[in-house]
Amino acid sequence: MQITDLNTIPHFGFGLMRLPVIDGDTEKIDIPQVCRMVDAYMDRGFTYFDTAYPYHQGQSERAVKKALVDRYDRESFLLADKLPAWSLKKQEDVQAIFDEQLERTGAGYFDFYLLHSIEKKWYPVYNQYGCWDWAQRMKAEGKIRHFGFSYHDDAELLDQILTEHPEVEFVQLQLNYLDWENPVVQARRNYEVCRKHGVAVNVMEPVKGGTLANLPPEAQQLLDDSDSESNAAGLALRFARDLDGMMVILSGMSSDEQMKENLDEMADFKPLSDSERRTIDEITRVMLSKPTIGCTACRYCVDDCPKKIIIPELFRAANGAAMYGLGSREKSYYKAALTDGHGAAKDCIKCGRCETACPQHLPIRELLEKVSETFDQE
Ligand code: SF4
Ligand code: SF4
Repeated sequence: MQITDLNTIPHFGFGLMRLPVIDGDTEKIDIPQVCRMVDAYMDRGFTYFDTAYPYHQGQSERAVKKALVDRYDRESFLLADKLPAWSLKKQEDVQAIFDEQLERTGAGYFDFYLLHSIEKKWYPVYNQYGCWDWAQRMKAEGKIRHFGFSYHDDAELLDQILTEHPEVEFVQLQLNYLDWENPVVQARRNYEVCRKHGVAVNVMEPVKGGTLANLPPEAQQLLDDSDSESNAAGLALRFARDLDGMMVILSGMSSDEQMKENLDEMADFKPLSDSERRTIDEITRVMLSKPTIGCTACRYCVDDCPKKIIIPELFRAANGAAMYGLGSREKSYYKAALTDGHGAAKDCIKCGRCETACPQHLPIRELLEKVSETFDQE
């Protein structure tokens, strides 16, 4: 399939990694609310749903079955799922995980299937287990309709992979205006490599895990003073949507309200004006002057921490303090993350497991020391 065909898909996707939950338990998804979100999304003509094996510790795939597959005609929506390199310990695991995903979702086939989170560490694993050829076999059997991968590394490796694998139809990139020139994320350079190879681009983290939806006061003021009618999240979504070769902009929505706001922006999409582009540049300058941590709250680091530290929640509190000052809201975020036996930043024993899992390559141990200096002295 050519990029032009993929372009016929409505360009706004529902990411299923931060679904609403009950009692703060990420495994207890609020299914009635997800059903309402799915209905609102489908009612506005959008069709693309993106889940993965580890999201909500496997419960995201099960929520897909309950809220979508069991309630809608299979041909009326597009479902994407992903193979996790870090769960592959032997050859048979590739097929076993795929079969488990088909069983969890009840989907029968995946419209889009991705090798999850390719980076230097995982590319050899996908090669070792022959995942590229295996995916083509699944395609021939009709269990996968389109094949691609999500990506978290530099432009050189991406260029190499796309040269070695011309069968790839699309790549999912972390892309937002704040990461556009980020030397680690390399959003612009990776996007340009995809354009060079003629593969479609899916965008993940267009709002950078919510960071671009809640701007610090100085940046929000710039948006308020501009002639843009978009809110902060809408502006970030439109930045990504406005790029050529986009297939789907994914947003990991967590409530009816977020769904409604994003639908209003994306159903009636307007390209950015020149003055909105200037506003984005100014907001970027302000944001980059704040010492925030580039955590996208993906939670890949959480499960293996021996001290049960909910790292993204602690980073969220620290980022709040960096952007708005250390107030009671940030202190209460931090405190809330320590309930039920979850460790504080000072409890980190520096084993490094979290850093192995982090697709943002964050120096988590070092960052936790700083977080501890701010919050554990209270
Ligand atoms: S380095 Fe610290 S935060 Fe990371 S997994 Fe180990 S104990 Fe947990
Ligand atoms: S620290 Fe890294 S792995 Fe953990 S939630 Fe943040 S981005 Fe994800």
